[in-house]
Amino acid sequence: MPGLMQDWSLTCTRILDHAARNHPGREIVSRSVEGPIHRTTYAEMHARALQLAKRLQADGIREGDRVATLAWNTWRHMEVWYGLLGIGAVYHTVNPRLFPDQIAWIINHAEDRFLFIDLTFLPIVEKIRPQLASIEKIIVLSDAAHLPESSLDLVPYEEWLAESDGDFAWVELDENAAAGMCYTSGTTGNPKGVVYSHRSNVLHAMAASVPDMLGLSARDRVMPVVPFFHANGWSLAFSSPLSGSAMVMPGPRMDGEAIWELLDSERVSLTAAVPTVWLMLLQYLEKSGKALPHLDRVVIGGSACPRAITKAFEEVYDVRVKHAWGMTEMSPLGTVCAIKEEVAELAGEAMLDLQEKQGIAPFTVEMKVTGDDDDERPWDGRTFGRLKVRGPAVSRAYFKEEDAAVLDGEGFFETGDVAHIDAQGYMQITDRAKDVIKSGGEWISTIDLENLALLHPDVAEAAVIGIAHPQWDERPLLVIVPKDGTQPDKASIMAVFEGRVAKWWMPNDVEFVDEIPHTATGKIKKTALREQFSGYAFDA
Ligand code: ADP
Repeated sequence: MPGLMQDWSLTCTRILDHAARNHPGREIVSRSVEGPIHRTTYAEMHARALQLAKRLQADGIREGDRVATLAWNTWRHMEVWYGLLGIGAVYHTVNPRLFPDQIAWIINHAEDRFLFIDLTFLPIVEKIRPQLASIEKIIVLSDAAHLPESSLDLVPYEEWLAESDGDFAWVELDENAAAGMCYTSGTTGNPKGVVYSHRSNVLHAMAASVPDMLGLSARDRVMPVVPFFHANGWSLAFSSPLSGSAMVMPGPRMDGEAIWELLDSERVSLTAAVPTVWLMLLQYLEKSGKALPHLDRVVIGGSACPRAITKAFEEVYDVRVKHAWGMTEMSPLGTVCAIKEEVAELAGEAMLDLQEKQGIAPFTVEMKVTGDDDDERPWDGRTFGRLKVRGPAVSRAYFKEEDAAVLDGEGFFETGDVAHIDAQGYMQITDRAKDVIKSGGEWISTIDLENLALLHPDVAEAAVIGIAHPQWDERPLLVIVPKDGTQPDKASIMAVFEGRVAKWWMPNDVEFVDEIPHTATGKIKKTALREQFSGYAFDA
């Protein structure tokens, strides 16, 4: 017997339609690439996205065509997404922090037809232009007055857009059609293209907005510091308009001072980014003596959130930390460390212990942890294994690799993370499968050791890698970047671990460095670090 409800396809443009109709005057504030602060609304963005959709169609962009962006978070970048979505074309965010050759590889692999760029990235594009065979047009997200001299044939966005009017209706689409693409950094092998559908983006934005995930509302002013080019921009270009939240976008400036300025002047209530960004902000606050009177929640993910960051936000600045885990293949949110009734009474260090966990899954994300034999592990908060996930916004294949199996027999996707889950459903990542240290047949979590090292007052950053060991297979080496102007000694650092981890987990040695290498998405690049210490041997 059929249900008697309407067939209303879950296409992404419905989100902007909703925001423009129900929250027409809600602001979208951006620090523009040209410099000044720019203000618009959902109603205006809706009108410009329609105009853009018509303009793209006039240029011959069709359903299924991929179009790349190399751009910061601004109103223009966001309206480009919606304009493309409105004609069934596919937004493809490219991470400008990758090496130029990788950028070229990704654009060629996706066979992008147009490229929208911010002025900042012109030098990169000038360098790789000869390699970009599929790119027919390069549109600069600015106006003719700001276009510099260039060897390339550049189209100024504003003038190009003005060639069209906004008399347009979104193209009718199947909700399962491709909506967007984002390549994962592919620490091994070539990057892999993740392809979101309209349906997956809409379902994911709904799941991400509920109180125990981001908890967005029409009273929030949301600042996505996480770039749109990192893991689908954590869905904020969808979940914010879906929730009627105002948006504040940092554009090209992501230093502590610039972030603080917008948090303060635009009364941002929720913001989101990777831990390194928050370290910069906290350092700025400490130096300047500034406070965060408007900020209510900060979403921290992409790598494990160090306890010291959580403690500073919660205790010094009175901001609630939402530790989140996810990945590009998950659209990307997987879990948020929400506070359930069972743990609501925790306080002080016990609450910080809980907040070190990555948290609980929303509806639409199923998790399990399995051992090497593929058997499911118990949810006891101790037994760790490979973390696998299933759901309507989780990848089932990669672009142009549709036949390669990435799911297990039950349809679960292997995350590459090692984790345990407790009886209340709180998941905690203990490592990347490829970073975990195997010592005497047992596993040592490098993330746990790194978090502990950061408890030392003079440690700015810490990374743990496995070093080959004749007797134990591998043993942990702790690599430390000391805080500016400090010279911590080994003994005081080792003392941090005393009584906090089993003896056999203790790092065998500590090395001090000026800098730890990072990936294009701000994570510690353990491959590079292992290379740097490839000849290393512990003192006998
Ligand atoms: P990229 O490597 O390109 O940044 P992703 O953003 O998809 O790609 O990375 C996802 C991975 O980041 C996860 O599989 C996990 O290893 C790591 N990660 C994300 N959030 C967290 C977190 N809160 N704690 C620990 N690891 C995290």
